[in-house]
Amino acid sequence: MALQPFAKKIWLSSPTMHGEELEYMKQAYDTNWMSTLGENLNVVERLVCEKIGCNCAVPLTSGTSALHMAVKLAGIGKGDKVFCTDMTFAATVNAVLYEGGVPVFIDTERDTWNMSPEALEKAFELYPDVKVVVCAHLYGTPAKIDEIKAVCDKHGATLIEDAAESFGAVYKGKQTGAFGDYSALSFNGNKIITGSSGGMLLTDDFEAADKVRKWSTQSREAAAWYQHTEIGYNYRMSNVIAGIVRGQLPHLEEHIAQKKAIYERYKEGFKDLPVQMNPYDEKNSTPNFWLSCMIIDKDVMCRQKRGDNTAEFWKEPGKTCPTEILLNLAKYNTEGRPIWKPMHLQPVYANDQFVTLGEDVGADIFERGLCLPSDNKMTPDEQDKIIEIIKSCFK
Ligand SMILES: *Cc1c(COP(=O)(O)O)cnc(C)c1O
Repeated sequence: MALQPFAKKIWLSSPTMHGEELEYMKQAYDTNWMSTLGENLNVVERLVCEKIGCNCAVPLTSGTSALHMAVKLAGIGKGDKVFCTDMTFAATVNAVLYEGGVPVFIDTERDTWNMSPEALEKAFELYPDVKVVVCAHLYGTPAKIDEIKAVCDKHGATLIEDAAESFGAVYKGKQTGAFGDYSALSFNGNKIITGSSGGMLLTDDFEAADKVRKWSTQSREAAAWYQHTEIGYNYRMSNVIAGIVRGQLPHLEEHIAQKKAIYERYKEGFKDLPVQMNPYDEKNSTPNFWLSCMIIDKDVMCRQKRGDNTAEFWKEPGKTCPTEILLNLAKYNTEGRPIWKPMHLQPVYANDQFVTLGEDVGADIFERGLCLPSDNKMTPDEQDKIIEIIKSCFK
């Protein structure tokens, strides 16, 4: 079968708009609430609290700023070690550095591709004084967050949940973002719903939320002039961005259903290939299926070599590797991506500690795994073609 490249690019995950976003943005414009106060902000705060089941949701400029505020709330200062998810987007960890903290990376578990609760326990044996843990839910798949939380509680540590990729995902009946003392959501353009940008800090602690409201608006004191007793930030979300988020929120579950259908279609399409989809705890969790990923069985991996900025591979009949598949996807005008490169392999974090149970699980998933085109506007026919393109790599 001779396949043609897609005429219109199929993205990994692009914004999906519905129309209401424009109405709420226009409402902000028409009422002149174009800045950091207004009805869109108030409504988004209320709706997100209801969805997550938390007391407070503070609207901020990004998921990154929400993580920064969470790390600051947790009291991290210069030289304090923080246990962090290793296989994640760098923003999870950068926030620790903003406050002078020192990350210690915790290896990944095979079951969910998230922080291993066992490796976390081992880390507390090595560094019993650590007081903060940052745990992400990669690709919208919940980590074993109750086990992680139990380890944190046992050692008196604060839990920060990075739910930037997992909005709407559920673990044991509870939304991700509801387990941490402080949690972060992101409304970046590629997330399950978007504000074009934006994020939120979630907490049950009213006092903590008030602190973030103050810090995120330049830490102004209640005085007639600009009076400051603390360092401030310009991290507050605008009412225009909140209008986009407000228009997207009613579509969250619809996006999740579409993403789930994509995941299931890949799973079915690949059932005779020597690959696995990104796994989740089917008994206890419902992912939001933000990105579909796969991992190639070891015995059908051809040789692949990655430098800091380059990748090469050596084709063998019947074998393939992420580099070959990604090249092929690109050739047909569709976007895949390597697995997020683990933090302990990043040059910027090369001097930081990495706690593993023996085998480096993150490095292995990075070597053999990849993220598949997961755009919820992709049609079943388009996805079938992508499945064919991928299958051809195993010939
Ligand atoms: C996107 C993302 C962030 C950062 O969110 P922004 O809104 O882009 O700042 C943080 N952590 C993870 C895991 C993410 O995927």
